[in-house]
Amino acid sequence: MRIAVAAETRDGEARVALVPELVGKLTALGYDVAVEPGAGIHALLSDDEYVEAGATIDAAAIADADVVVSVQPLDVDRIRRLRRGTATVSFLPTTFEQAVVVDLRDCGITAFAMELVPRISRAQSMDALSSQALVAGYRSAIVAAGMLRRFFPLNMTAAGTVQPADVVVLGAGVAGLQAIATSKRLGAVVRAYDVRAAAAEEIRSMGAKAIDLELETLEGTGGYAREMTEDRATRQRELLTPYIAAADALITTAAVPGRQAPMLVTGAMVEQMKPGSVVVDLAAETGGNVEGSVAGEVVRIGNAQVWGGRNVPSQMPGPASRLYAQNIVNIVTLMTLTGEGVESGVFAPDFDDEIVAGSCVTHDGEIRHEPTRAALEGAS
Ligand code: NAD
Repeated sequence: MRIAVAAETRDGEARVALVPELVGKLTALGYDVAVEPGAGIHALLSDDEYVEAGATIDAAAIADADVVVSVQPLDVDRIRRLRRGTATVSFLPTTFEQAVVVDLRDCGITAFAMELVPRISRAQSMDALSSQALVAGYRSAIVAAGMLRRFFPLNMTAAGTVQPADVVVLGAGVAGLQAIATSKRLGAVVRAYDVRAAAAEEIRSMGAKAIDLELETLEGTGGYAREMTEDRATRQRELLTPYIAAADALITTAAVPGRQAPMLVTGAMVEQMKPGSVVVDLAAETGGNVEGSVAGEVVRIGNAQVWGGRNVPSQMPGPASRLYAQNIVNIVTLMTLTGEGVESGVFAPDFDDEIVAGSCVTHDGEIRHEPTRAALEGAS
């Protein structure tokens, strides 16, 4: 059976779904691996490296593939070139990609969405949301340090003492904890806040100070946050204002699954920041944690430069691709039949497995992901 690695076509996407060093994992399962020409080029991976690793380079790779792996969903033109029954494995944000889902259904494609992989311990090695959030969180701290025109660390020199920068991180999930760890390594004094009860201990374990607003915690299902009421949001903003006004750098990473990012910081709060302050909003693409932030741009609000993140993992395409590719190899391995009596790997997803069932969006002409089906086809 053949696995094709698609060259990404979406604007600004520099990652690739498989890196040469992991080709051998798929060939060892019995797959032929075919890579579209130039697929790794933006992640600094040449076609020659894929060939040396045992893949072939083929401009028509996706047309006769059994499985197509990519970072972004394939565009509609390319979906229509696939054989019926082909499987695709990629990120597939169904809320924003409804036209793609309809095409995947109508073309009889079995589509798996990496963001729907259930967050259970058995699926941790397939959790691409976490692997890419790690990259984004690291990058957010590096961007803040790069934009801030002062030191992050304390410096005690013969010419006097330079005080460390004060960094505030809002949202202490995977990205936020990585932003905290990176800012700490660079020597900043870090304070952080999250609505989940468990977060305070995690913040402290990174060596940062947990901001306690003495508000009720908002724990939802699966270890995620719950949405705030408007009253709670207003109170949280009031209580956070002095922390933000005192910060040199503010990094925001808050999200609630399946919803627009919560607005945690108003323009008026940013206006209270000191001259030279910087704000990095990792949630800018999904509505923004900071009022007025723009994805992919730096805007000025009051005294602060506000950087809005846009496909942030793609800004470190090498490591982001390496981590994503490992997630892809792990999920493809789960869906591959091996063992006695099977000559070479057969792609045969077991829909009784909760990881397979949970991540499947379309199969056999049907939308299998119920919220997406209800949104597109109405009540059943
Ligand atoms: P996420 O990207 O959905 O959210 C980021 C953070 O924003 C979360 O910590 C959330 O609590 C926080 N947040 C939401 N609303 C907020 C608000 N109003 N103010 C401040 N903070 C707010 O979440 P994530 O980073 O993907 O993960 C969140 C949790 O899930 C973490 O506890 C993580 O350890 C856990 N997790 C578990 C698994 C697993 O079991 N396999 C995998 C990944 C993550």
